[in-house]
Amino acid sequence: MKKDLICIVCPRGCSVTVEGEIGALKVTGCSCTKGEQYAIEECTHPTRTVTSIVRVSNREDTMASVKTSCPIPKESIFAAMESIRGLSVEAPVCVGDVICKDLYGAEVVVTKEVL
Ligand code: SF4
Repeated sequence: MKKDLICIVCPRGCSVTVEGEIGALKVTGCSCTKGEQYAIEECTHPTRTVTSIVRVSNREDTMASVKTSCPIPKESIFAAMESIRGLSVEAPVCVGDVICKDLYGAEVVVTKEVL
């Protein structure tokens, strides 16, 4: 296997190449160990933090921004977005309020207060 990636861990955006077989992957092009870890995870078990918005049921034309508390499997993102689309909150909500306790292993938390 050979895969070329752009590391998305920091704005530097290093061009990274991963070669070899699962369990013995060799990473080149990284400027730091965080990038190496990202590249290996991207090739073996890619994950992403999901950000979205939900309706505020007691405010007209108002949405609250939310995100998953930790990265979830990349293959679950579209299903997770469907689940988030079905959520709503009631104002007031504060940053860090949990509106869903388990979405593919993550909580869904509010990222901007709505008073
Ligand atoms: S390899 Fe390190 S320096 Fe390069 S983009 Fe990734 S995190 Fe940033």
